[in-house]
Amino acid sequence: MAGHRIEIRGTVQGVGFRPWVYRLARRVGVVGRVRNDPRGVTIEAFATKSILDRFVAELQRDTLPAAQIAELRETRIPDENLDAFVIESSDAIGQKALSIPPDLATCEDCRNEILDRHERRFGYAFTNCTACGPRFTIATGIPYDRAATTMSGFLMCAACKAEYDDVQDRRFHAQPNACPECGPALSLDRLDGRAATAINALADAAELLSRGGVVAVKGLGGFHLACDATDGAAVRRLRERKHRDEKPFAVMVGSLAAAQALAEIRADEEALLTAAERPVVLLRRREDAGLAVEVSPDTSLVGLFLPYTPLHHLLLEAVRRPLVMTSANVSDEPICYENDEARERLEGIADAILLHNREIAMRCDDSVSRVIAGVPTLMRRSRGFVPRPFYLSRPVTRPVLACGAHLKNTFCIAMGDTAYFGPHIGDLETVAALDFFEEAIERMQTILEVRPDIVAHDLHPGYLSTRYAKARDDVTLVGVQHHHAHVVSLMAEHGMQGTVLGVAYDGTGFGEDGTSWGGELLLCSAERYERLATFRPIRLAGGDLAMREVWRIGFALLHDAYDGAPPSDSISLLGDVSSKSIELVKQMIERELNAPQARGVGRYFDGLGALALGRARSTYEGQVAIAWDQVANESVSDAYPFEIDRSHTPWEVDLRPAVRAAVDDLRAATPAGDVSARFHNALVAVTAELVKALWADRGELPVALTGGVFQNAWLAGGIEKEISNKNRVLRHSEVPPGDGGIALGQALIADAILGDKG
Ligand code: ZN
Ligand code: ZN
Ligand code: FE
Repeated sequence: MAGHRIEIRGTVQGVGFRPWVYRLARRVGVVGRVRNDPRGVTIEAFATKSILDRFVAELQRDTLPAAQIAELRETRIPDENLDAFVIESSDAIGQKALSIPPDLATCEDCRNEILDRHERRFGYAFTNCTACGPRFTIATGIPYDRAATTMSGFLMCAACKAEYDDVQDRRFHAQPNACPECGPALSLDRLDGRAATAINALADAAELLSRGGVVAVKGLGGFHLACDATDGAAVRRLRERKHRDEKPFAVMVGSLAAAQALAEIRADEEALLTAAERPVVLLRRREDAGLAVEVSPDTSLVGLFLPYTPLHHLLLEAVRRPLVMTSANVSDEPICYENDEARERLEGIADAILLHNREIAMRCDDSVSRVIAGVPTLMRRSRGFVPRPFYLSRPVTRPVLACGAHLKNTFCIAMGDTAYFGPHIGDLETVAALDFFEEAIERMQTILEVRPDIVAHDLHPGYLSTRYAKARDDVTLVGVQHHHAHVVSLMAEHGMQGTVLGVAYDGTGFGEDGTSWGGELLLCSAERYERLATFRPIRLAGGDLAMREVWRIGFALLHDAYDGAPPSDSISLLGDVSSKSIELVKQMIERELNAPQARGVGRYFDGLGALALGRARSTYEGQVAIAWDQVANESVSDAYPFEIDRSHTPWEVDLRPAVRAAVDDLRAATPAGDVSARFHNALVAVTAELVKALWADRGELPVALTGGVFQNAWLAGGIEKEISNKNRVLRHSEVPPGDGGIALGQALIADAILGDKG
């Protein structure tokens, strides 16, 4: 006999991993034990050497679909005289912090069961097992067991209880285990004044959808608004009622094959689409996709996702066509999640609500991902990922709460050697969003059993997240510069210590010189940063208004590039804007009245996009920038000229020559795709030149590409290609490049700044 301790790290908790190991051990004839530990699972296995080898090989080869083994370490231990293999409970070792896993998409076994009329769970919308089902969104406390979930009010029937108690069963200790006899049930509420016929809520909802209706559907982390994605009138109706002009809607499809009919899907995109986290994946829409244009009117991308609850599977089976599935809210308010709240807030938006009596404990929006220049990247990290921990390569001294930014807010709690992002809160612009933010922080603190007394926040005094931090009593506050936080988040994702050259390009972030930053090259460690280069500022006439009326930025670029006297035919590039409005903006810029200076690379995209694409207005953040990326003509390889002013520190990139060259092109009726390509190429070239020059000064450090602008594939891929032969280039993957990712960096910077002083 030989004894081995096998320590496994990765996604191995809350996914039925221990029972699966147990069954494997029994099958191959291994004795010993398996238990959760703070970082994963530990197995102590005893058998002959050949059996142990087979055991380890099978552990790695046939692992559960929802599990992910990141690391497996074996050490020899002395033999013990055992006669069985057992599962040790987590409670016995007092380990709680990790006990609530993220929500998991319905597994194949459960899906087959609900579609098989011989099964007792045929058609049952709340079917789950240890490998799938709700987790985080139903947890009300710790440790994660049924009593501390919103399933506590449902008493398991004898059949379900038998499954729950049988270690050989796939529902052994599946906390939300339920069946039609004992579990939650669906109902349909009509909001259009008609009486509910509701003998079969699901069939009625499907019927309504097929006739072009809008149905709110209660999901895992909140309500969706659904309608037939092939029916233009239905999608238009939803847009009008939801007050959403052009921002793309996500579409749920019944199967991978159905997704392939709508979009071009490469292997790495397929992996995202079918992962247990089931994010929305941004894909290139096929020309012949039978989708209503109203789904994503101004982009060639479409966000698709596969069903992740039994209810979704059943609904898609019944409707048999793709469904728009968008968060149920008005404009940018937080997603609805309570039955009464949904009835109230969705009146006049949805014709009916398909709901059920299993409460949602924690709101959690869908996650959004995209393969960006070869790297699968989370753009919004929420359902399916929260509250999965990040392991830190250097533990924090004391627990820290980091409040995140303003748009696409998420917060983060770091403790010991782990950090946890909260769910996507959204734009902190409304009271409802602030309530959600505070409630989610409370909930995460409860789940993690921690109340950090160090609170990190952005330097922007106006952000509600900053005001929240400053209103907290008895905590130590640490203000963190926005782009420093972006860079350190990315370092943390890669487990990097030391110093990197951060390239932080985004729309906006509070700078320490009174301008808004967003084109920053920063020499960064966790403790400090040094600003080595930036972009020439642009005046945003009207402040935030310029982000929607992007022609104002376009005009500011012209005004600057031509020393206050842009050629008259260049003004016509701004489209249908009245000369009176233009004159007003000119005055604001010249008199520096409500025209703050912004250096964000994203603002250059907005401004040049307005000029080149004739898009005077943007109805959602980044709209023009996204369109601008997509039109770029890949066969154009030359770049517009630029200058770098090295006369003072930080160096300043001057894109006025690029603007003038673009205007010349546009006056000569050069296609927008060529202008876009030359502008992108200029940004790639100037960034590579800066990096190389700074390397010569400061040594060849790894380069960290971060900020929302790096959702632009052309830029991310182009810069990486230009510089990666010299040193490592860090890109985002599990931590979003945009402001949804900065809280992690804030936490680590606060810890580093305070050191042991805390
Ligand atoms: Zn299952
Ligand atoms: Zn039951
Ligand atoms: Fe940012």
